[in-house]
Amino acid sequence: MLHARKGRKKPKAGLAYLLEIALLLAAISLPPAKAQLSPINLPSNHDPIQGFDIPPERLMESIADLPESVQAAISSDPDRFVSMLRPVLQLASTRYFSPVDKTRSLPASYRPPHLVPLDRYRALYTSAQGLMVNPLIMRDLLRMSAAAESQGVILRISSAYRSYYRQREIFARQVLRRGRKEAARRSARAGHSEHQLGTTIDFGSISNAFCGTRAERWLRLHAHEYGFSISYPPGMEELTGYVPECWHFRHLGKEALALSNRFFGGLSTIMLSYIDDNSDWLAPSR
Ligand SMILES: [Zn+2]
Repeated sequence: MLHARKGRKKPKAGLAYLLEIALLLAAISLPPAKAQLSPINLPSNHDPIQGFDIPPERLMESIADLPESVQAAISSDPDRFVSMLRPVLQLASTRYFSPVDKTRSLPASYRPPHLVPLDRYRALYTSAQGLMVNPLIMRDLLRMSAAAESQGVILRISSAYRSYYRQREIFARQVLRRGRKEAARRSARAGHSEHQLGTTIDFGSISNAFCGTRAERWLRLHAHEYGFSISYPPGMEELTGYVPECWHFRHLGKEALALSNRFFGGLSTIMLSYIDDNSDWLAPSR
């Protein structure tokens, strides 16, 4: 179901959405609790954490720098946290969950293996030739596009994988056009773009003109069902470093999004940094 919205004037975001963002912001602006670890209320029969050789103290130590609300969520249900984290960690070594932001980057040589050309898929709508994506997102991308189309909504893919060098050109062009400071709010430097992962897609016009269109409203409501989420939501520039981009979606998979919603207040960027910092010792033993 799409929004039954009256005036069609560029709805920036639904009230519920704005409220959600405000709550998230409130949650993350809390000062991180300094090494003040919440007591672990683990029932004695859950020690160590179910099915894992993870000492609860080590887990609590790893979350000590996270926002208080995230720490509280995890320490109130560590078994569930670890069991939801497990399927996500299976992919941790593939860069699928690499945080890619203003400070964390990919090497210039990184190119996801076996990129899939979208021209091969007649069922998909693209606005350029030669677009490619990481094969790991193909299934969900096809399902999402078909689901939208069955409801009369066309999802047009306008940008997908970008190499380091392509991103360097794009950023340089933005700097010429807007100056370095403004360019940095709207475009990523080479190595710092999620597009280099091949799991990120820009839809429609790649501009604010896309916000409020049927396709954008459909994505806002349903993309998460297919594992996609918006990377730069409105009101989050301080956290993400970028102005809102209603067209830019990164695939993280349903499991990771569920983990992000349940324990990280929906702030995937915090979850990704946590996974990146801790995947070596948290990885499921074989
Ligand atoms: Zn993008």
